Amino acid sequence: MKKHWHELAAGEVERLLSSNASAGLTSLEADKQLAVHGFNELKEKPRETLWQKFVNQFKDFLVLILIAASLISVLVGEVTDSIVIIAIVLLNALLGVFQEAKAEKALAALKEMTAPNSKVLRDGEITIIPSKLLVPGDVVLLEAGDYIPGDLRFIESHNVKVQEASLTGESVPVEKSTDPVGSTASLADRHNMGFMSTVVTYGRGKGIVVGTGMQTEIGKIAEMLQSVEEDSSPLQKKLAEFGKMLGVLCLFVCALVFGLGVYSGYSDGVLEMAEVQLMLMTSISLAVAAIPEGLPTVVTIVLALGMQRMAKKNSIMKKLHAVETLGSISVICSDKTGTLTQNQMTVVKAFTLERMIDLSGEGYDPKGEFFRDGSTVDLSEEQDLAFLLKGSSLCNDAQLKQASDTGAWHIVGDPTEGALVVAAAKGGYIQSKLTADYPRIQELPFDSTRKMMTTFHHMEGRDLAFTKGAPDILLSRCTHIAVNGSIHPLTPQERNSIAVANQEMASHALRVLAVAYRAWDSIPDAPNAAEVEEQLIFIGLLGMIDPPRLEVRDAVAVCRSAGIRPIMITGDHPDTALAIAKDLGIASQSSLAITGSQLDTLSPAELQQLVQTASVFARVSPEHKMAIIDALRSNGQIVAMTGDGVNDAPALKKADIGVAMGITGTDVTKETADMVVADDNFATIVSAVEEGRVIYANIRKFVYFLLSCNASEILVILFAILLGWPIPLLPIQLLWINLVTDAFPALALGVEKKEPNVMKLKPRNPAEPLLTWKLQVMIGIQSLAMAVTVLGAFKYGLYAYEGDLGVARTFAFITLITTQVICAFAARSEHYSVFQLGFFSNKYLNAGAALSLFLLLLSVYGPLHVIFKTIEPGLNEWLFLLALSPLPFLATELTKLVLRLSTKEDSQVTNSIAK
Ligand code: ATP
Repeated sequence: MKKHWHELAAGEVERLLSSNASAGLTSLEADKQLAVHGFNELKEKPRETLWQKFVNQFKDFLVLILIAASLISVLVGEVTDSIVIIAIVLLNALLGVFQEAKAEKALAALKEMTAPNSKVLRDGEITIIPSKLLVPGDVVLLEAGDYIPGDLRFIESHNVKVQEASLTGESVPVEKSTDPVGSTASLADRHNMGFMSTVVTYGRGKGIVVGTGMQTEIGKIAEMLQSVEEDSSPLQKKLAEFGKMLGVLCLFVCALVFGLGVYSGYSDGVLEMAEVQLMLMTSISLAVAAIPEGLPTVVTIVLALGMQRMAKKNSIMKKLHAVETLGSISVICSDKTGTLTQNQMTVVKAFTLERMIDLSGEGYDPKGEFFRDGSTVDLSEEQDLAFLLKGSSLCNDAQLKQASDTGAWHIVGDPTEGALVVAAAKGGYIQSKLTADYPRIQELPFDSTRKMMTTFHHMEGRDLAFTKGAPDILLSRCTHIAVNGSIHPLTPQERNSIAVANQEMASHALRVLAVAYRAWDSIPDAPNAAEVEEQLIFIGLLGMIDPPRLEVRDAVAVCRSAGIRPIMITGDHPDTALAIAKDLGIASQSSLAITGSQLDTLSPAELQQLVQTASVFARVSPEHKMAIIDALRSNGQIVAMTGDGVNDAPALKKADIGVAMGITGTDVTKETADMVVADDNFATIVSAVEEGRVIYANIRKFVYFLLSCNASEILVILFAILLGWPIPLLPIQLLWINLVTDAFPALALGVEKKEPNVMKLKPRNPAEPLLTWKLQVMIGIQSLAMAVTVLGAFKYGLYAYEGDLGVARTFAFITLITTQVICAFAARSEHYSVFQLGFFSNKYLNAGAALSLFLLLLSVYGPLHVIFKTIEPGLNEWLFLLALSPLPFLATELTKLVLRLSTKEDSQVTNSIAK
């Protein structure tokens, strides 16, 4: 019988899969395997085809009303009307399909951008490949925060722990080893196996892939996981409900119009069937025209297009709802290293007891010299310094590499560690030689709660453990010190001078790491941090610069003017943090940094008070981030929080917007986050907030435009009936208006450029309704003005052309379309006059308006005019109608001006926010 992978020895697995634990597969072999096994993907539910999408359009309640209307038209003998209605239904459906397909494509492209990668050995080199290309036999390197990309057999495990709850239900992370396990072991007991889509929460390891795609354990149950979660934003849900409510309201008004119409027809004694038919058709068409059935689709497409635009600027939105929440963000909590700073570290100072040494050189180029008081240092005379450099390069997972073509040096791994490798190389200690001479036997990986890491080595006949980490923490674990090679207990004075040196470097914005060691009789099999990282012998400190990102200073200023408070939350030393925060404008000159241990002493109420003013939190652990978010949110703030490490995931989940780092972020944080910042840059978060505000404002613009247009159509018919006038618009005309004016200008408003004050307004209160009172006033005035103008044109037509209904209706028809098209320009801003923005500066709206006007001309001239029962207006008629058409636009612009003048202070950020 065939044996299971977990029963076999690691070497046997390697042999069976023709792999090589230290070199991985060759590219050739990997390609061959890929051809046999296919992509490492779980089968997805088949997508809806275009045809299915098209058919779904007809399931809409409103479309069913239209179809009913066309049937009624046939029954009452209005065959042309019926054909036109059906044509409109088809056109609407096609537009719907097109919009849905486009939105879906945009979202799929975004998903692709955050598709996971794997670190594998190929042709003897560490290579990052898309996890999709993983094949059986690949050797995968894993560390804390990684998703396991396929099923694999561990061949190396340094305290690897894996969270397998999703597969086995086991809630505690399971420790992994490399020894064979009995054949009958259940999934949960296969301690030498890693399973696809479980998460490494601790440690470092290596495994050979034994199964990919549907051949994995998760693949076997993938059928159960097929239900892809459809994420719709609160705004979409609100709008869908709002649309339904409006729909019912419209139906009610239309029934009223029908009743009133029939009643007024009856009041002159005779009720003609034709009149009832006309009223029936009018109210049905009115319902169709007035119900904003396109709203949810337009919102989806605007959100999806917005997300695409944001992705081009490095912010990848993972959840649709995040786009609108972004506009409400009032606090951005950011990590320091890599987000506010460049994460390009260079060691510039080294300290061993009472000796401060400077290092020259730039970037990762391992060329540079050591100086003390201006003169070059001879390393052979500096035993402690040499030991410090060696220890920091050995207790290290980064690698220094040189590009074969350009000769440029770069780091594979953490830049902090990379800087240490470079510093050691400047002193002549080349990492590859060091690790060959003194191989690593055991290790305790770095984690941001302990803020330390330890590795064990055989070194010149001794077993040594090197520990490096945050100086304040590491120093408290040191009992001795090495001075000129000899060891003695640390005196209080020595402790003090180390602390002073640390503080001195930190206050100059240097990131400082301490290195210590301890000798062991024998290296423990399963080292435990609490026992290993104590009674250490202090060696020295290394201080590195990490320059602030240049663009962040401006981004911080933009935040302040937009009513958003930036807060720095870092694991680094308070003095380093404060120096950088002051430089970037996050903290004022008199600000203090709050440390994690200070936070531990505060009650929730005290913390709530503190977070109102404190802007720098240092030496915090991921758990502190949770407490800070809680306190900020209890104060009513809407919080965006960045994170990169595996322990940051809960905080990202808790924040209103969890932001993961694209470069340094772990798979887990990227998966949990609402948004991934591809370039790790704080300034990118700020520009995403701006984009979020713009998108929300644009959604309001077209909602406002559509609602006022639809309301005006209802008012025109309702007023005419109340005034005892003939119906000013024929059913077919109403339907055409619905199609012509709604869709194109509304879509164009959805991609309006940002308004100049977008980052000068306070964050939007999330409780604020979409239709604020101001917007309601504007909708009311605009729709009323439109209705009055249209009725005016209609009445004039009747009067001037001696009761010729054909002319009067043509006048009403043309005026309604032209007023709506012109009003679309006013809808471009709630705050500014469209003339301030540049009347024709939205080229999409220009095109949309031109298209609407072209379709209008098409419906009054040429063969179509028979269908629309319009007459062909001459020059005089046009002059009259065009003079009338801008009136509602002017009314709207005037309303905006009055509202702007009366509520100016209300909307602007008046008080600058406390630093
Ligand atoms: P931020 O939270 O802003 O990203 P950070 O990188 O300093 O800043 P952590 O990664 O939590 O935050 O690190 C906390 C501290 O641990 C650092 O200030 C440093 O002193 C120490 N440290 C960081 N990386 C290592 C490492 N690879 N090995 C040992 N100690 C480290």
